[in-house]
Amino acid sequence: MAPSAEQNNHTSTDGQQSMLDAQLQLWHHTLGYVKSMALKASLDLRIPDAIDQHGGPATLPQIVAKVALHPSKIPCLRRLMRVLTVTGVFTVYHSSADGGGDLVYGLTPVSRLMVGSSGPLNLSHFLNLMLDPMLVSPFLGLGDWFQHEMPDPSLLKMTHGWDVFDLTDHHASFGKLFGNGMVADSGFVMDIVVKECGDVFQGISSLVDVAGGLGASTQIIANAFPHVECSVLELSHVVAGAPASKNVKFFAGDMFESIPSANAIFLKWVLHDWGDADCVKILKNCKKAIPCNKGVGKVIILDIVVGAGSSDQNLVETQVLFDLFIMCVNGAERDEKEWKKIIFEAGFSDYKIIPVLGVRSIIEAYP
Ligand code: SAH
Repeated sequence: MAPSAEQNNHTSTDGQQSMLDAQLQLWHHTLGYVKSMALKASLDLRIPDAIDQHGGPATLPQIVAKVALHPSKIPCLRRLMRVLTVTGVFTVYHSSADGGGDLVYGLTPVSRLMVGSSGPLNLSHFLNLMLDPMLVSPFLGLGDWFQHEMPDPSLLKMTHGWDVFDLTDHHASFGKLFGNGMVADSGFVMDIVVKECGDVFQGISSLVDVAGGLGASTQIIANAFPHVECSVLELSHVVAGAPASKNVKFFAGDMFESIPSANAIFLKWVLHDWGDADCVKILKNCKKAIPCNKGVGKVIILDIVVGAGSSDQNLVETQVLFDLFIMCVNGAERDEKEWKKIIFEAGFSDYKIIPVLGVRSIIEAYP
């Protein structure tokens, strides 16, 4: 039977609505980078600090009194703050209960992590690194990069002419940005690791943090577990810039060559920088460095396990976005099957995934 005029109208209204929904999705994706850039602008302007220094929720004039912006841009700041409140970075309310008065902007748990520039509860330096033009601009060439044969050049090298760890060596300001970013991440996540996952370090008397950056993670482990002899293996240019420490030793070296012996080898955010073949080489060197009698030595990996953790949409999306992000250095975020493959290929007999760090997990690999 032919549909009535009313049914026809209904069908086409539904059809139009779903087209409009699809357009909305496309616009939402297309403007995703504007969200990132709004966050970056709030960091550049130090808006979280301004609200914090004001002592609590602040009006625009109160924020403006503490940030460097041209007075003619105050109306634009209101629009920036609207994006950042709609997306949950700041709160906003009217100063009087009847809905009148000035708008007052406050911190949320999200923007609290952007207050100040150091300490375990501060991620500003990490966000500064992730949102820096050096790491953002390569993605404009992602489509072009797909035309090149794997593995060389990485998207980062195609854009800047250097692979990431040559860049940290030869480009002083990027090297500093990178080091500070990693220190901020380590301070944040390792504080949680030693409080929530202390068991991981039980029974260990020595630990080498392989590719441990400026030693921030190792320092936190050494302070939390004073009986553990802690050291860092890093490239010589990184060791040269590392802060002196009473209880953390630094070795300049190459993890692809050899790794100093210890009960435990710690690899935080290292293996995701490398392809499978390189990961197997690194893991084989880790295995050589730990005692071979079962039950004593282990490798502790802190990285993303795609699909591990909660099924929260933001978490799932962040894991796969990070995978695409790290593809710019020819690295990869791996799911359990992919981790298992490289762990067993390197000669380990077993592993355990402990998905307790939100987006990331701890993986223990046993010889
Ligand atoms: N584990 C640290 C740093 C991770 S970034 C953290 O999570 O904060 C990766 C680190 O690997 C960089 O500091 C880089 O200098 C180091 N690295 C790269 N190649 C290396 C090699 N061949 N030997 C030792 N370290 C290396």
